[in-house]
Amino acid sequence: MQTITLKLELQKPTQAKMSMYRKMTEVNTAFSNWLLHFDELKTATSKVFGLYSDERLPSAIVNQTIRTVKSKKKNQKAKTFRRLWCSFNNQNFKVERENGLFKVSFPTFEKRIGVPIISKDHQKRWLDKLLSGNVKQGTTELYEKRGRWFVAITLSFVVEQKQARQGEPKTMGIDIGLRQLAVATAGTTSIFFPGNEMAYRRRRFASRRRKLGEAKKLHTIRKSKNKESEWMKDANHKISRHIVDFALENGVHLIRMEDLTGIRHSKKSRKEAGRNLHSWSHYQLQLFIEYKAKMAGLSIEYVNPKHTSVTCKCGHIDKRSRKTDTFCCTQCGYLSHADVNASINIAKAVSGLSTRKTINN
Ligand SMILES: [Zn+2]
Repeated sequence: MQTITLKLELQKPTQAKMSMYRKMTEVNTAFSNWLLHFDELKTATSKVFGLYSDERLPSAIVNQTIRTVKSKKKNQKAKTFRRLWCSFNNQNFKVERENGLFKVSFPTFEKRIGVPIISKDHQKRWLDKLLSGNVKQGTTELYEKRGRWFVAITLSFVVEQKQARQGEPKTMGIDIGLRQLAVATAGTTSIFFPGNEMAYRRRRFASRRRKLGEAKKLHTIRKSKNKESEWMKDANHKISRHIVDFALENGVHLIRMEDLTGIRHSKKSRKEAGRNLHSWSHYQLQLFIEYKAKMAGLSIEYVNPKHTSVTCKCGHIDKRSRKTDTFCCTQCGYLSHADVNASINIAKAVSGLSTRKTINN
């Protein structure tokens, strides 16, 4: 079972609605903190709210809050709630389609209300699946971010796992780096994503910021950083889509990538520190690949990155075999593109699997 959270913005709520949502959140938060110290929490039902206050928080929200407080208390995670957004189960929160537009309805202080939502194309596809019963709706949270209101709906669904009919699963290795953002190899076929355009764009972002820095335009600098990370995110989404499509076209069952988390935390040399700057975007790319692969029923494994770039298919390990883009074995003379060679070694997990956990399991 896979789970995703669909975040949808409510379309321009009126001031009156927004202040009601805020008030609901306030009451719910205060109630949750009261519940934390309520002696009979274990047997509490929605009626317990009457002991706490004369206000009318819908029993649907009260029930969810009781559930949340119970589980947090059990795991000893919460001493106080700074804020607890109102949440609803699938019986009380409904998604509907009216004349091609999506709206959601849920109970509030006064009554049940229906409100239109803003949905992008990929979100519409999920909502269609939800309405046709292909995905299961879990709980939904009503929350505010920078003055805008959203609902986060949990959706779960079964993905048919791709498996080899006989023998070993077909494995693809992905090498992630700087000169090549990614090189993926499945069998004898490789796909390349050169890093030069991205490096150029990032240098331009950086130099623009340096000029701004002299003029102390901090607000503009922050805006430029946000713009860069939005752009990176978009690029990583596209690359990961291509890579997973490539895996599917080539009948792959299992994708292997290097566990770069160890490298992320070490800053031993200047070179590694430079790599560190890029590492968050590498990490994001891996997460996007992992997510899309799992949605397509592919398995993911992380491997130990040790020696993946300097090992030959003959088994010989030598740093001198690798010179920038070229791999040439100092023992047997085998010649290959350095990143293709690395991606093959990653597919074979030459240095063993890492313990890095994948999403959802
Ligand atoms: Zn060799």
